[in-house]
Amino acid sequence: MPNDVLDQQEDLLLHRLNEKIIRCKLCPRLTKYIREFRTTKTKRDLDHVYWAKPVPTFGDPKARLLVIGLAPAAHGGNRTGRIFTGDSSGDWLVKALFETGFANKPTSISKDDGLILKDAYLTAATRCAPPQNKPTSLEITNCSQYLLAELKILEKTTKVIVVLGKIAFDTYCAMYHIKGLKFGHNKIYTLSNDKTLIVSYHPSRRNTNTGTLTWQMWINIFEAARSIIDLEGKKE
Ligand code: SF4
Repeated sequence: MPNDVLDQQEDLLLHRLNEKIIRCKLCPRLTKYIREFRTTKTKRDLDHVYWAKPVPTFGDPKARLLVIGLAPAAHGGNRTGRIFTGDSSGDWLVKALFETGFANKPTSISKDDGLILKDAYLTAATRCAPPQNKPTSLEITNCSQYLLAELKILEKTTKVIVVLGKIAFDTYCAMYHIKGLKFGHNKIYTLSNDKTLIVSYHPSRRNTNTGTLTWQMWINIFEAARSIIDLEGKKE
């Protein structure tokens, strides 16, 4: 089957999955929490209509780089309706993707901002913003079905998986029954399926404002991903 037909198939599968996710109400606590943002807004966001539903993921349907975050931010993805969009984590992530050739522009502001990811796909452990950025283990388990479905759709092309933060790391390892790996920034593991797992601190304000995660530490992650992907590309 020609490659462009396969790409369309993956695009369609991801689209259908996202349509299903948007309607999901499996976690009552999160469903209630995100809906409250339709009426309760910060002063800064008074003019915005909040998305306030589970947030779709996005990117290149034949991506070799997969980035797994924690969850949409209450005033980021939960507001704009696109993951890593309209918040400081999204700012850090998309700037790094742009600087390493995975995005056409360095900013992620709104769903219609013209951002196109090249060879990269962004997803998360849970699709509803959790209070204090802390989903329960049951909520993570509930949402893992969607992450697993995405990983299967992207399986053929994925070469490098970047996990942002301990929850994304633990979720990924649990889904694939991977044992013995340690969480830590810029730890790089070759998995039994020949894919590479790169572990990173999450670019949350708590990490970036305190110097726990500096820009140099952060860009190192995406430079490593770029090198691995380029090297794999030369082998093929
Ligand atoms: S976190 Fe995931 S499983 Fe839970 S309600 Fe949201 S989309 Fe559904």
